[in-house]
Amino acid sequence: MPLKASHALPPKSRLGQNFLHDHAAIERIVAALGPLQSRTVVEIGPGRGAITDLLATRAAHLVAVEFDPALAAALRSRYAVQQPQVEIVQQDVLSFDFAAAARAAGQPLVIVGNLPYYITSPILLHLAASVVASEPSPLDAAVLMVQREVADRVTAQPGTRDYGLLTVLCALHGTATSLFTLPPEAFSPPPEVHSTVFRWSFAPRFAALGLDPAAFPSWLKAAFAQKRKTLANNLRAAGFTASQIAAALDRASIPQQARAEELSLDRFAALHHALASNAR
Ligand code: SAM
Repeated sequence: MPLKASHALPPKSRLGQNFLHDHAAIERIVAALGPLQSRTVVEIGPGRGAITDLLATRAAHLVAVEFDPALAAALRSRYAVQQPQVEIVQQDVLSFDFAAAARAAGQPLVIVGNLPYYITSPILLHLAASVVASEPSPLDAAVLMVQREVADRVTAQPGTRDYGLLTVLCALHGTATSLFTLPPEAFSPPPEVHSTVFRWSFAPRFAALGLDPAAFPSWLKAAFAQKRKTLANNLRAAGFTASQIAAALDRASIPQQARAEELSLDRFAALHHALASNAR
């Protein structure tokens, strides 16, 4: 299908198709990935190829994962002849095996994407799960466009309104930094929200903090279960006794009335260990 054909396809809002047309933003996103001449890049949701076109000129190898079969077909015929280093995969990114792609590439992957907003959190959690599922980390860094409110949550500091489970889960897998924000008019059709690009440098902290990658995230989920409750009450609801919790909070030097939203990842790790040793 020729290039024009992908632009003739009507955008599907159910697939989060808001196409980026701000060229300066596209340059900034690709620049934030660092030097790409010897790297394998995976793009999530290439759509009509706004970012893909520039990546294709810079990356040694580009794998673009697009769920929409019509867009995937249009992209495939666009790059097939002159740019064999571009591989279009028609697949749901939530079932894409990043670890296998890194093994095939022989190096950790660089990830980029103007994400489909309806599945932002599942995509972030899928990337996080890929980072801990295999050693060494199959992912190096990601530069992702998300709804501004999500980026605010991912990069929030303890004790602020946006700080929560998503913040701590992302911090467990690396460091997230906000880069820049775009208005709705940077996209076609414009979404109803502002969008922020953030960089996530993967460096899982499970080993350094002595945490079990399977058990700790579900314990964290319980700690954040109800925002209006104290941490102690949330942990009681998860099955710990009042005395176990009080002793563990003391041992980790955390106030008895603390809320989950006030604790850094390191404090959570200390509490988790204190609780485990008290519960024994
Ligand atoms: N990268 C393009 C751009 O910046 O203009 C398109 C970005 S658009 C916000 C999101 C893209 O993700 C769309 O092309 C959409 O079809 C695709 N998409 C939606 N759900 C997906 C999924 N589950 N897996 C892979 N791609 C998906």
